[in-house]
Amino acid sequence: MATAMSVSAVSPAAAAVARPRTLVCVPATARAPREMAAELAAAAALGADVAELRLDCLAGFAPRRDLPVILAEPRPLPALVTYRPKWEGGEYEGDEEPRFEALMLAMELGAEYVDIELKAAEKFMRLLAGKKPENCKLIVSSHNYENTPSAEELADLVAQIQATGADIVKIATTATEIVDVARMFQILVHCQEKQVPIIGLVMNERGFISRVLCPKYGAYLTFGSLEKGKESSPAQPTAADLINLYNIRQIGPDTKVFGIIGNPVGHSKSPILHNEAFRSVGFNAVYVPFLVDDLAKFLNTYSSPDFAGFSCTIPHKEAAVRCCDEVDPIARDIGAVNTMVRRPDGKLVGYNTDYVGAISAIEDGIRASQQTDPTTSPLAGRLFIVIGAGGAGKALAYGAKEKGARVVIANRTFARAQELANLIGGPALTLADLENYHPEEGMILANTTAIGMHPNVNETPLSKQALKSYAVVFDAVYTPKETRLLREAAECGATVVSGLEMFIRQAMGQFEHFTGMPVDNENFRAITSSLDSPNTMMPRL
Ligand code: NAP
Repeated sequence: MATAMSVSAVSPAAAAVARPRTLVCVPATARAPREMAAELAAAAALGADVAELRLDCLAGFAPRRDLPVILAEPRPLPALVTYRPKWEGGEYEGDEEPRFEALMLAMELGAEYVDIELKAAEKFMRLLAGKKPENCKLIVSSHNYENTPSAEELADLVAQIQATGADIVKIATTATEIVDVARMFQILVHCQEKQVPIIGLVMNERGFISRVLCPKYGAYLTFGSLEKGKESSPAQPTAADLINLYNIRQIGPDTKVFGIIGNPVGHSKSPILHNEAFRSVGFNAVYVPFLVDDLAKFLNTYSSPDFAGFSCTIPHKEAAVRCCDEVDPIARDIGAVNTMVRRPDGKLVGYNTDYVGAISAIEDGIRASQQTDPTTSPLAGRLFIVIGAGGAGKALAYGAKEKGARVVIANRTFARAQELANLIGGPALTLADLENYHPEEGMILANTTAIGMHPNVNETPLSKQALKSYAVVFDAVYTPKETRLLREAAECGATVVSGLEMFIRQAMGQFEHFTGMPVDNENFRAITSSLDSPNTMMPRL
């Protein structure tokens, strides 16, 4: 089998024989048997394929009394019965014998799947003595809560599990970094080639992509919780997100992978927007959040043509310039890349769509609220103060300068403010200076720091008193849509422009780079109309 770390060596398309689709399994973790049966019905209503009945979660569980209730026929979904002991991360603390007896009773009552841990499999098989019902599949599982072993060690583990007589192999490991997931993808492909049914998942936030992308590599099933707060494992997505947001039923070996690289990245609405946009034009692709610590390592690992493009956000936009094989001249001048596309020759090309997105949003915001000369930019000649000197700050400063504004940079780290100001040809300020900065009327303010971003919604980069000096205020933060900065600026009488408008416009540019198709403005805006709702579901991380 392939031993290299990079998934560039892994070709799911080559390995794909006609194969069954990856099932969506919802863990039922209720404390009472009737509630657990109700969870099974709720999982069926969500469109799941299987429900995992976690017997170890039941309070005062009495198998002969409770199992007939939970497994009563007709069952709305096939049942996977798990009775996880504490020593393998579950809640059961008793002896092994009664645990095994409960699992055997579940088989007798028609459970379609039973899970037994690798460490207990030999004893369990001895007790079972070949009496497993025909229609019941035995899953032999191994959970590693520390790390993800090497590809060789994972392959050995698969062989060990197969040797127990398992019908399905289950391996769950833990990611310490996102590149760990590549080794699990390799194992999935290896098993697919050998026609070994396998569930292979990598737990925690950095392993999140394993849960969404495993259908591409032929996994037997993936877990999705009934609702937020009912996860049976850290960073498990909801079944609804798997099915509706990530379109998991459509993910196959040829599906291209796109995503947003960031840290943090869980707040991003890009997956909601891009997945729906891809679906609306029938583009065979999925868009996921990539929680990345080391950008170069990530790009080296996920270097196959299947990983076809990336959005880039905090704090990787500047490093992205160095990691691309080619960089569009404007992105190079700005010094920040927010979009990376893999060309057919495998080269990564970097662009910046923030610049046009932000500047056009501010221009249109001013035009909508003030009388302006239609022949020039409403930014021309105005004093334009940018707070922040990171990727977004550079894009805004560059764009405002291009439009003829006089640009001032204010930043927490003054040296970085000076560096950008020198590049743009304007003055630099500290954040403290900005409080009393009022050289003229009609100034424009653009916040490009994360101050005020969810969950720190009570924070703001500038006092309300100081905001009285501004005619126009823009905030790049778009979760929430109305930040404290924008609310207070509006109360002071300024024209306000939301970061959501920039977000939509930069995403339109990305869509065109990713798909090679022209964006249909009306369709895109219709998709984004739900994004400013505070109830919009965020991808789980
Ligand atoms: P970045 O490159 O990491 O830059 C972050 C900037 O914010 C730096 O100037 C940093 O100052 C400053 N900063 C961070 N935390 C701060 C704090 N607590 N107090 C004061 N200053 C602080 O990030 P980025 O990619 O430019 O993104 C910045 C923000 O813009 C994020 O909230 C992002 O979500 C948002 N954004 C929105 C859109 C959109 O479409 N609406 C697009 C891009 C970005 P130092 O130099 O002192 O570290």
